[in-house]
Amino acid sequence: MSSISFSKALISKVSRSYPTPFYLYDERGIRKSIRLLKKAFSWHPSFREYFAVKATPNPSILKIMKSEGLGLDCSSLPELLLAERTGFAGDMIMFSSNNTPLQEFKKAKQLKAFINFDDISHISMMQKAYGLPKKVALRYNPGATRTGTSIMGAPKDAKFGMTKKQILEGLMLLKKHGVTEFGLHTMIISNELREQYFIDTASMMFDLVIDVKKRLGIDISSVNLGGGIGIPYRPRQKPFDIAKTGKATQRLYMKALKKGAKPFALHLECGRYITGPHGYLITKVRHFKDIYKKYVGLDASMADLMRPGMYGAYHEITVLGKENKPRNHIYDVTGSLCENNDKFAIDRKLPRLDYGDVVIIHDVGAHGHAMGFNYNGRLRSAEYLVSTSGKVKMIRRAEAIGDHFATLKF
Ligand SMILES: *Cc1c(COP(=O)(O)O)cnc(C)c1O
Repeated sequence: MSSISFSKALISKVSRSYPTPFYLYDERGIRKSIRLLKKAFSWHPSFREYFAVKATPNPSILKIMKSEGLGLDCSSLPELLLAERTGFAGDMIMFSSNNTPLQEFKKAKQLKAFINFDDISHISMMQKAYGLPKKVALRYNPGATRTGTSIMGAPKDAKFGMTKKQILEGLMLLKKHGVTEFGLHTMIISNELREQYFIDTASMMFDLVIDVKKRLGIDISSVNLGGGIGIPYRPRQKPFDIAKTGKATQRLYMKALKKGAKPFALHLECGRYITGPHGYLITKVRHFKDIYKKYVGLDASMADLMRPGMYGAYHEITVLGKENKPRNHIYDVTGSLCENNDKFAIDRKLPRLDYGDVVIIHDVGAHGHAMGFNYNGRLRSAEYLVSTSGKVKMIRRAEAIGDHFATLKF
């Protein structure tokens, strides 16, 4: 769990100035995480992190990535357009989609993005429709050779990527169609805190590079190890040791070169690791209900933050001004959707709550606002960014009833 990075005075001021609920992001924290990640892989001359746009798809956040020299990982046409509007192009965009509408590849090619195919059928479809770019990556799914994680499941049950056989066939097909630079990609973890699992994945991919060279005589020019590095959502969880992981990856990379691999670029596409701990959902207590259990109702709902309802995900909850009060009350913390899983926490120990208390839900900087929805006619909340200099800036307004009605025909 991230301890709150702003002063109580700042949160108190913004929660009085702007209607709750809203998201509040910490630019300083985001930049710190980026630098830790870059430092851990700085041993590699052409390391690049492509921030996963889907985690926090807001131009002001993406501009932070740009100023730190990161690329963007896009998975849909709207994400490609967002990257374009934010000033990204060419090699700084990775297009990693699945079950892709063919015309989305057209935009990716037009932007000269680095396209990563999730399925072998896309190679000939793209070739026929728009022609293949000179540089292409293929996404590998190792199947039963690896175990899985709770969000993503086991690789053999995951819809992503290609089998080893398809990777080899796909590379030959790409070569036949004139592709000259070949990338390999994988993403088989989500919110993973075990460094060893990530290191094993690097080892698996580097072995694949060598195998491809031996079997096909093809030199792989880049390896993308995906995102999925976890953050400690729970109070006593240990953070992922990125420095140690970077060093272990370096040893494996050097070993791969010794075994005959040509030097290849190294890429990551983390989202959560970078922005996850640096976003907060600021809400207020609106309602109490005492039946078979004690409920406290917030002015935010699962439509603002889906993770607890969808995955049973834990998010730390603190109460402004009551940080040091004993947690001697047990509540289910709920939203207002007509869905019984609209709960931010179940049986959570908290200090005694009162009407109007400012409740802070932690670690929502990634896959938080982005997963919002409009069920029950709930409107999506605003986003604010606290800049490095401490200024608070609105980076997305809240939806209004008009937005909600805009697509309806009466
Ligand atoms: C979601 C996703 C990511 C980012 O995942 P995080 O858990 O936020 O790091 C990266 N790559 C692909 C292909 C994804 O689908």
